[in-house]
Order: sequence, then structure tokens, then C-alpha cells
Amino acid sequence: MDGDRTAQTATRSGLKSSEAAARLRRDGPNQLPAPSRVPWWRRLFAQLTHFFALLLWFAAVLALVAGMPELGIAIVVVIVVNGLFAFAQQERAEKAADKLGELLPTSIVVRRDGELSPVHTRDLVVGDVVALGGGDRVPADLTLVVSERCSFDESTLTGESEPVFRATGTPVLAGTFVVEGEAEGVVTATGARTRLAGIAALTTSVRRPPGQLDKEIQRIVRTLAFVSVGVGAVFFAVSLLVGISWTNAFLFAVGITVALVPEGLLPTVTLSLAMGAQRMARSDALVRNLEAVETLGATTFICTDKTGTLTQNQMNVVEVWTADGSVSVHGEGYEPTGSVAGAPSAIARAAEAGRAGVAASKGRIVHKDGEWHPVGDPMEAAIAAFAARLLSPDSPVPAEEVVRRFGFDPRRRRESVIVRGQLFLKGAPDAVLPRCAAGRALLVQAHSAVEDMASRGLRVLAVARLELDDPGPDASPDLIERDLELLGLLGLEDPPRTTVPRALAAARSAGIRVAMLTGDHPSTAHAIAREIGLLGPDDMVVQGADLPADDQILGALLDRDGIVVSRVSPEQKLRVAKALQARGHIVAMTGDGVNDGPALRQADIGVAMGRGGTDVAREAADLVLLDDDFATIMTAVEQGRATYANIRRFLTYHLTDNVAELTPFALWGLSGGLFPLALSVLQILCIDIGTDLLPALALGGEAPSKGVLERPPERRHLVDTSLFTRVFGVLGPTEALVEMTAFLVALMVAGWRPGGEFPTGSALLAASGAAFTAVVLGQIGTAFACRSTSRPPWAMGWTTNRLLLWAVLAELGTLAFFLLVTPVADLLGHTVPPTEGFVVAVLAIPAVLLADYTHKRVRQRRKAVGARPVA
Ligand code: ADP
Ligand code: MG
Repeated sequence: MDGDRTAQTATRSGLKSSEAAARLRRDGPNQLPAPSRVPWWRRLFAQLTHFFALLLWFAAVLALVAGMPELGIAIVVVIVVNGLFAFAQQERAEKAADKLGELLPTSIVVRRDGELSPVHTRDLVVGDVVALGGGDRVPADLTLVVSERCSFDESTLTGESEPVFRATGTPVLAGTFVVEGEAEGVVTATGARTRLAGIAALTTSVRRPPGQLDKEIQRIVRTLAFVSVGVGAVFFAVSLLVGISWTNAFLFAVGITVALVPEGLLPTVTLSLAMGAQRMARSDALVRNLEAVETLGATTFICTDKTGTLTQNQMNVVEVWTADGSVSVHGEGYEPTGSVAGAPSAIARAAEAGRAGVAASKGRIVHKDGEWHPVGDPMEAAIAAFAARLLSPDSPVPAEEVVRRFGFDPRRRRESVIVRGQLFLKGAPDAVLPRCAAGRALLVQAHSAVEDMASRGLRVLAVARLELDDPGPDASPDLIERDLELLGLLGLEDPPRTTVPRALAAARSAGIRVAMLTGDHPSTAHAIAREIGLLGPDDMVVQGADLPADDQILGALLDRDGIVVSRVSPEQKLRVAKALQARGHIVAMTGDGVNDGPALRQADIGVAMGRGGTDVAREAADLVLLDDDFATIMTAVEQGRATYANIRRFLTYHLTDNVAELTPFALWGLSGGLFPLALSVLQILCIDIGTDLLPALALGGEAPSKGVLERPPERRHLVDTSLFTRVFGVLGPTEALVEMTAFLVALMVAGWRPGGEFPTGSALLAASGAAFTAVVLGQIGTAFACRSTSRPPWAMGWTTNRLLLWAVLAELGTLAFFLLVTPVADLLGHTVPPTEGFVVAVLAIPAVLLADYTHKRVRQRRKAVGARPVA
């Protein structure tokens, strides 16, 4: 019933904006209802029952059964606190990810008050007349009222990947994509009332296959779980063998297992990625999944297009070649006024070319706020501005008179319209000149004019015309576009972005290779590539058609610094991505067109544009550049690397105290229980989920260090030998050494002498307090040490990570709480250490820093020696 009424109101002029506003209030925004999420209590429950938690539950039950209720209860508290914390981090990460989704630009051209204007898809209402073109996502359920050979990709709804043609009068559904042609449709349903919403409600969210990072984390989880349970079991067996009582042996095994389980690790990783994604968004790089943050950091090859990414997409026709000579054109930006210079007959022909060029374009210029702005394709807007500079303002052909349009397609590289008995065509010269009926001499002249303009970095567009009758609805453009009359060649200027040379230099020093894949003319591509410093004077441009057919040879050809492929097709881009990946590259690939989807999906990082480009490309992409700027890719890479480094930072930090936590148990167990236990399981838990949490978070938020883009890319395991050496060879042992020294010194204060019997009771409690303090303080040193893998904290400035300072302050507060609040201290089994023990504990900070500094120096020296050329 609603549909009938909307069909009636669907006039050529569309809705009145007042009516649209009223309907928007009535029906609500055109948005899919938020997917019904798993209820919060189930998400919380999941945090209490994941693998590590189950391990801890098991330990808690055993502790209760074995008659150690405090331990059992304490472990349960740990599970709960840890679960709550993980839950909170997960929520924060998800909220951040949701926010990113809202930044994705989505607008659609709508006819309102008789005029076409872009509207946010959220504000569409039933009855709106929507204009669709190739690459657009259908924003709501529609009935087509005009369909110019318009085909749709309905695979999102039907799974059928072949595009289907839809004629006037048929419905098309929200969530499908326009592949080719143009259409106008009247909105019949929006938001929750679309068919897509119905389907979305049925299907639960699509599961992506686990990415590299996921696998990496699973690997760590499995390793650590295996190690902790294994080590626990071994120690259990050993302690039984040396004659320790069952309960003590058990206590021992639980302690070791609990000490090794990295509670709170996984949510910190997710949160760290989300924070990385947020930082990227602040510099106009929008990732569409958190995994991409890590992949960006590992990128080794960037394939970028030219127009709009490397250049400003700020076009201007500066020169026109015609059969009667050349005309030079001057004008500011998209201003319709300017000056021309050339022979009068050439100017007259140039004006004809301008008229034809405008007829074959949809892009226009509009006057708004005292300035002229491009609407639609900037190149077409530039043609409109140029035509206006030559013609009287009322000359451009009104859109209504277009009978047929064969839209731009990167394979045909041309676009034409049929207007009242004439066909106007514009396109890449090599796609147009062979179809012209001009004499040989003129064509030779035209070709050399193309070469001349292109070699100066101009983008050249050929414009042609043909007299013809309406060829009927089924005629193919290839048959019609023949024996054309060549009107002229337009030379368009599109200066490179000023940010690009520096970004390219950054890519070079970061060991990332960059290739330009452009649909443009080889000479234009060459000139621009030289201007931005991508190519040297002797480097050649390869043409898409000349790429070797063999994938291996193709990979070898491409795998070098600075390569340009011109006249490239979307299929060739896909091949390029595959060939580079086969050589082990991690490929980022930009794309803007309807046909770029497969290449974007194939690439490890598909990059789409937020301003230019199509919905199809944005939908297929992992990264959207909100400012369309190549330099933003490098910013994203930098943030990606920084985020990965941060994850390694807090992993190093988290793993270090395991050594200090294991040592007391090892000494106790291996001495057959003679050496007193310096730390209790409860104290270990207090460190792991109490004092350690905030510094780990703060390390996850460390700003990118200056050097991240000065290293070659590497995709190493999160936990590799260098991290292992640092944790288990340097930081951990130092911390443990100070811990045990503090413990023994405190015992000596109580009268113990080496070789003598170990004291028990209050002396032991105070010594345990000293050991505990030493570990907590040692972790403060470790936190500062972990800020960099190469520089000592004093070289970085102590205060450059504010978050860490707060975290350390909180850590000290927590330490005081654990030591000074008597019931808590009683429960943990320690008391305030004696002064001497405390002094030793404080030394843990400089000791760890010093050991780490020495290690860094040694590593650097070794690297320097390794890097020295062999004489
Ligand atoms: P780029 O890599 O520079 O973005 P494209 O694939 O977009 O190249 O375009 C390739 C060539 O097709 C351009 O050099 C131009 O000659 C032609 N072309 C681009 N856009 C249009 C258009 N809207 N109409 C006609 N021809 C076009
Ligand atoms: Mg393009």
C-alpha cells in the first residue's frame, strides 16, 4: 500500500525536502537495526569459561578438595576479577570498532526539490528518487523507474555472482550493487523494513577465517598452556619423589601453573589493536577489521593507482589539440571564466570538443559559497569548467536529452552518450583514435600530440562525435562507436600531491616497495612517476598488455623498487597481487572501480578511497583512506608496526615476572622443601592480575617510536627467540636475583646465617614481604625497559609515556595496599619487610634497567659487527 502511493509521488522532481524530513521523522533513519548481539551476561560468562579460566577453575576445585579453602577462594576471586577486566577491555575494543564503522562515508545522489544532490544514506525515506551508477551500493529497497542497461550484482542476497539486468518497473533490493549502467529508483522500504534487514536478522554475523594474528595468539595460548601445565606436572612428580607431602606437592604444582598462565593477555591484545585502529582513524586511515592493523604493519609491497591517490585529483584542462592547431587555456581551479590563446579556427574547434566532452560527462561544476566546486568526477568537472571558458554559459547539454549512455569502463577506457541523433564520446586516446575516420596524416599528428602532452605529465582525453539515429535498446557500444569524427584532444593537468614524495621516501627507508598501477597513458604515468621520485630517468614503464603471462616471471619483473604499469586492467591488477604474494610479499593494493573488488580482496590489504571511488571498492577493502591520500597508507603502516611492537612490549613485560614467580617454587621444590617458599600462590596472583595490569595496558598505548619506519618490514612471531632471550635470559633472572637477595637479607635481619636453619613465623612473613616488594618494583623497572627494544628509558625521556607514569603510581598504591592493610597482608601471607630488605627490593628497579641496558648495548654492538662489510 505504501508502495502504490510512493509510485504515484515519484515524479521527475522527487520529494520536497520538507516532506522527506517529515517521513524521516515518521519512519526513522535508513539503517539496519544493530545486529542482535550476544547478551552481555553470556559475553561475561564466556570470559569466565575460556581455556585459561577453566584451568584456574580446575585448580580452585582441587585446592578446595585438598583442604586449602583460602587458596581455592582466592583462585575464584582471580577468575572473577580477571573475567571482569577482560570483559571491560573487550567491550571497549568493540565499541571502538563500532565507532570506526560510523566513519565510513556513505552518500547517494537523490532527486529532491527537482535537483540532484548527495544525501547520507541514513537520511533516505520512502518515496525518494535515487540515482544509481556503476559501483553504487543500492541503499534501500527500490522500484526502478529508469534503467539504462543497468545490471546488478545480487550475490550478497542470492549468492549468484553473475550480474543480472533489471528493467524499468522491477524491484531491486538494498545491499546489492550496480555493476554497469545507470538507473533511477523510487525507495519502497528503508532500514529495518528492507528485505536485507530480514535476512540479516536470520543470519548470524559472518565469521571471517582466522587471520595471521589470531593464529599467532592461538599459538602463544597453546604454548603457554602446555608449558604451564607441563611444568606444573613435572614439578609435582619431582616433589613427590623427593618426599614432599601430597598437599604440599599439589600446592607447588598449582603455584607453578598459575604463575605461568598469562591471565589478562588476550583482551589486552584486542584492546591494543583497537587503540591502534583509533589512532589510525585520527589520521584518516580507517581499518574495517582489527586484524588489518597487524597486517598493515607487516606490509612489504604497496600497489597504488595514480589519479587521486598520488595526484590531487584537482584537474584542469590547460591545452587542446585540434585539426586546426593547438589552443592553450588558462583558468583558476573550476572557475568557468578564464582565457584562451590560439588561432580562431582552432578555438572554434576546441569549443566543439568542449561541448562534446560535456555532453559525454555527468560531472559538473556548481557555484556555492562564492566558489566553484566540482560535482562528480573531477576530470569531468574540469571539462565542464573548460567548456564554460570557451562557450556561453547556457550551452551545455541538459541531462534530460540523453537517449543512451555507455558509461566509463576501465576496460573500454571510454564513455559515450547518444543525444538527439548524435553520439558524443570521450576516452583514452588509444581507445578512441583507432575508431576515428580521420585521414592518416591527421592521425599521425594526433598521435604525436598525445605523446607530447603525455610526456609533460598531462592526462590526455580524446573527444569525438558521430551522427546517428537511435540504434535501439540492444545495440552494443562496440558496434556503434565507429568511424568517429575526431574533435580534439584535451590535455588535463593534475598535479601530484605534495605529501607524496616524502611518503615514498618513508616507504623506501621502511623497506616497502611501491608500484604504480594506472589505467592512464604510459607517458603520463612516466612523467608523474618521475616528478614524485618513483622512477629514475632511465626507468621504463611497462604496459598492462605486455605483462608476462607466466606468474613467476611476472613476480620477478615486479619485485623491484619503483615500477610503473600503465594501461592496466582490473584483471591484471588481480594477477599482480597474486604474483607478488607468491613471492612472499604482503601486498597492499588500492582500487576505486567496480571491477577492482577481486584485486582488493586478493590483496592482504585492500585499500579504497573515502571520497572518490565506488561503494563496491569500499566494501571489498580492509583500509579506507578518508582523504584519498597515498601518504595516509604510510601513516597506517607506521601505526600498524607501532601497534605490533606494543603488543610485543607488554608480552615481554607480562612474561618477565614469571621467572621471579617460578624461582621460589623451584628452589623450594628442588631443595625438597628445605628452602622456605618465598612467595605464595596468592602473592603471585596479586602480581599477575593486580599490579601488572595497568602498566601492561600503558605499554600497549605507547606512541610509535621514531624508528618504526626505518626498519625493513618483518613478520616475526609475537614470541620469538629475541623476546625469549630478553625475558628468560636477562630481565627475568635479574628480577629473580634481586627478589631472592631481598628475601635472604630480610631473613638475615631476623638472625639467619647461611648454613643455619631457616627461621619460620614472623621472620619468614617479613622476608616474603621483601621478596614480593622486589618483584613488584622489579616490574616497574621492566615496564620502563620494555618501552624500547633498543634504547634505554633515559634516552627516551622518562615522562614521554604519561599513561605509564600513572600506571606506575597506581602500581605503587596497590603495593602499599597489599603490604599495609593488615587483613589483606595476613591473607597473602606477608608483612612489611625490614628496612634492609626493603632497600634491596628498591634496588630491583636500577638492577633491571642496568641489566637491560647492558643487553641492549651488547646486541647493538653485535649487530654493528655483523653489519660491517667483509674486508
Ligand atoms: P587512473 O589509474 O589514472 O585512475 P583510470 O583507469 O581511471 O586511470 O582511467 C584510465 C584512462 O581512461 C584515463 O587515462 C582516461 O584516458 C580514461 N578515462 C578515465 N575516466 C574517464 C571517463 N570518466 N570518461 C572517459 N574516459 C575516462
Ligand atoms: Mg581512476
